[in-house]
Formats: sequence, structure tokens, C-alpha cells
Amino acid sequence: MILPGATLGMLGGGQLGRMFTTAAQTMGYKVIVLDPDTNSPAGMIANQHICAKYDDESALAILAEACDAITTEFENIPAATLAFLENKTVVHPSAAALAKTQNRITEKEFISSLGIAVAPFVAIHNESDFNNVEGGITFPAILKLANFGYDGKGQVTCHNLDDVKQAFADLNQAECVLEQRINLEREVSTVLARSQLGDITNFPIAENVHVNGILHSTTVPSVINQVQTQTVMEMADKIAEALDYIGTMAVEFFISKEGDILANEIAPRPHNSGHFTLDACETSQFEQQVRMLCNLPSGNCELTSPVVMINLLGDVWGQTEPHWFELLSIPNNKLHLYGKLEARAGRKMGHFNTLATSTEQATQIADTSFEQLKAN
Ligand code: ATP
Ligand code: MG
Repeated sequence: MILPGATLGMLGGGQLGRMFTTAAQTMGYKVIVLDPDTNSPAGMIANQHICAKYDDESALAILAEACDAITTEFENIPAATLAFLENKTVVHPSAAALAKTQNRITEKEFISSLGIAVAPFVAIHNESDFNNVEGGITFPAILKLANFGYDGKGQVTCHNLDDVKQAFADLNQAECVLEQRINLEREVSTVLARSQLGDITNFPIAENVHVNGILHSTTVPSVINQVQTQTVMEMADKIAEALDYIGTMAVEFFISKEGDILANEIAPRPHNSGHFTLDACETSQFEQQVRMLCNLPSGNCELTSPVVMINLLGDVWGQTEPHWFELLSIPNNKLHLYGKLEARAGRKMGHFNTLATSTEQATQIADTSFEQLKAN
């Protein structure tokens, strides 16, 4: 057990690292963040910021020496970095668990191997794989970079094989997955925490709306039925167990118009769709991450209020700052900003949670608040 007063390490200085840092510091831990960015959201509030690259072994050695346990907010930490740290101190999740989620092809093969459905896909390693497209998927389809994709980046919609050939060339022939486009009824996700003893606690299922491949809003509770809820949680728990995962993680799902439940991707860390837990659950996903890392019992995951979370992208910033006073004048709204210095289109700058007595009411207040905020 690692008790308050100890020092925790965080690989990655983005907003997820920042919210972990806040949760850990609230509980009395010290946090050291390692991130190459001098102005990282987590680095600027941590007890210490080691400004270094993820493969800088002397910096990693300093981090390992100072920390009782280390975790991450970012799935693309090089496996060698985690392996290096695992030799020196406690690290969760493991390098092996992270590795399975770093590449979309191995991730989908891993999920399928558990008997969990994914969208039909064809791996495109090189041009010879174009031969497998016919028979593998039906168009339209989405060509996605196998590595380093996030927020819909590196994704191209294709309507025929010629589109695929062009898109693959445009992506510099980097390894890709061609995924059939699913007729979506809705998208949901589930955040869970798995302890060192293997116990799992599930947060309530979140219903998500994406705009241009980026999460726009999350509504909880979702309207999906009891059977679907059960299925989604069982699938996510099965994935966590198969990864022997320790910590907080999330799984995104598609629910098709035909009623199929397909796993989309695994996030080996807290997830944007779990930000509602900061204000609407007894324990947040970040406090749970601290608890799992420190081998403490999990906190209660119960929902305390219907909630809508809306992401604030850089697009909301205009000539002036967004209209914060209007947003904060509505007592249902809880604002979270990440301290990023520069607002860019598509960049996640913050979010707000709207709490109300029903999801309908929360949706109405959240949508109105969001419109007012943008009105420059
Ligand atoms: P993030 O890391 O933010 O989740 P990402 O870049 O990993 O994003 P995906 O999760 O693959 O991207 O896709 C982003 C969104 O694009 C999905 O949540 C969904 O709305 C849409 N999308 C992706 N693939 C498909 C598909 N096969 N069928 C239908 N919609 C899709
Ligand atoms: Mg996704």
C-alpha cells in the first residue's frame, strides 16, 4: 500500500495527467510529471515537472528514484520506457497491457480473440493488402492510421478501392486499418477500475456524441436498456481481465442500427467520456486511478446526479475569451479548464458538466450554456 504523503509519478502532462495530479494532491500525495512540453497542463500544477522526452533514460532514472509508483495518461508511451521504469519501481498499467492498445490492428485482433465483436476490418500493411479489401469489408469504410491516431486524426472515409489507394498514399503508406463504417444507432463507453487483486468497479455507462471524430458530449445515464448495459460492462471487464490491467481504463463501443454491440477501442487510462465522474459520481475516475495505483480499496462509483458533459475545444475561443460569466451564472454548470496557453481549432481546452434532475433538463441547460458561451 502506498499511503498519502508518498510521491507518485505521471508520464504525460496533458489534461488527463492534470486531473490525476489534482486528485492525488487532494488526497495528500505529491506528484512528479514527466513531459517534454515546458507548458504542459499537468506539469504546471505538479509538485515537480521533469521536462524531458519519454526516452531520456537519465530523466526516467530520476523519476523512478523519486517516485513510489508511476502511471501514465497516454497510451503512446514507448514500451521501452515502461520496461525501463518497471525494473526500478512500481508501474501500472504494465508495459504489456499498454502495448496491446498501441496499434489498432493488434488491438482489434486482441479484442476479437476474446470473442468480442469489432467492426469488420482489413489490415493494410502494404499495397498487396488491397487484394483483401473485397470480401473483407463493404464500403463505405474508414482508413485509419494503425499507430498514433487520436481525436479522429489520420482517418479518411473511402467509398471504393481507388479511394483507399489514394488515402493510403496520402498517409505515406504508413500501416493502416480499413474499417467498415457502421450505421450507428448510438455510441457508448464505459470506464472501469481494476485493482491489484483483480476486483473491478464499473462507472455508469456514458452515452457519447462525436462531431468530426472528436467527442462533443457525454450524457449519463444512457438510455440503453438493461441487457445492453450488462453486455457492455461484461465485455469491458473481460478486456480488463485479459490485459491483467491495473488502474483506470475505458472501452468505447458502437451500437449499430441492427442492434449489434461492437467494441471500438480501448483507452489504457482515464477517458474524456469519464469526465462526468468529476462532478456526478461519488468518486471520480482520477481518484480511482490514484487508488488503484496505490493499492487502496476502490471508491464508490454511484452516480449522484443526471449529467451532461460538453467538451470545450479551441474553436469556442474567438477574438475574445469565451463568455465564462454567462456559463457560471447558471448554478448547474461546473467548469473545468486545463490551463492550455494557446487555443487552436480541435484542441481540447476544457469541459463543463451540467447537473440537473433529469438528463432531458441537463441536456437543455448544457446546450443553451454552450451556445451562449460561443456567442462572440
Ligand atoms: P479518440 O482517441 O478521440 O477516441 P480516435 O482517433 O481513436 O479518437 P476513433 O475512436 O477510431 O478515433 O473514431 C472517432 C469517432 O469516429 C468514433 O467515435 C465514431 O464517432 C467515428 N467512427 C470511427 N470509426 C467508425 C466506424 N467504423 N463506423 C462509424 N463511425 C466511426
Ligand atoms: Mg475513439
